[in-house]
Amino acid sequence: MSAPLTGAARRDELAANLAQVRERIAAATSAAGRPEGDVALVVVTKFFPASDVRLLAELGVTDVGENRHQEAEEKAAACADLDLRWHYIGGLQSNKAAAVAAYADVVESVDRLKLVAPLDRGAEGRQVDVLLQVSLDRPDADGRAGCDPAELAGLAEAVASAEHLMLRGLMAVAPLGEDPAAAFARLAQIRAGFLQDHPEATVLSAGMSGDLEEAVTAGATHVRVGSAILGSRVNVK
Ligand SMILES: *Cc1c(COP(=O)(O)O)cnc(C)c1O
Repeated sequence: MSAPLTGAARRDELAANLAQVRERIAAATSAAGRPEGDVALVVVTKFFPASDVRLLAELGVTDVGENRHQEAEEKAAACADLDLRWHYIGGLQSNKAAAVAAYADVVESVDRLKLVAPLDRGAEGRQVDVLLQVSLDRPDADGRAGCDPAELAGLAEAVASAEHLMLRGLMAVAPLGEDPAAAFARLAQIRAGFLQDHPEATVLSAGMSGDLEEAVTAGATHVRVGSAILGSRVNVK
């Protein structure tokens, strides 16, 4: 196990990884016949320190993602001087939702009605973008995150009616043990139905380090990439 890099060496490592990921995104975008720059990058910085977030911002990253409330809140506060958009992408407890809406610019993991009122309350005085997380798992899967596609329309209505929340689109994670291309093809169908009711909510956040190409093929507008840029999370924490 190597010691974590610091300073200039870490900056070089992040720069090289970032360049590779940007190249992958550009290649996938072009292969899908989509215009250059059509797919935005959210760098998932969970488990990594605020100093890495700072280096990423210097390297031109504009959007970062976090999945645990306390860690996200602390990092957002430590980086408050940077011009970054904070995406909350993790499981949300309804008793933490208001606190998340106080610092997150985008909450990507809204998957049930119970979250809408506390998020709206926490967002008061600002405008928080919301993505609805839709489940691509089989209905009987364990630890399923995301709303059932059948419940999407009702959830979308509730978010669209909330005063301080802006319904922007959908988010999904490909299930483990399934070809991500097949899962994302289902997602594209779900999205087509959703867009008929909410044509402005065009964001589709899908694809991670291992499956961003498949997601871009299926229409992702945002990919969420962690380990391919920051390294493995196994040795941190
Ligand atoms: C951790 C995480 C990611 C990033 O995963 P990598 O495989 O490290 O790129 C993306 N989306 C969600 C919801 C995550 O929790």
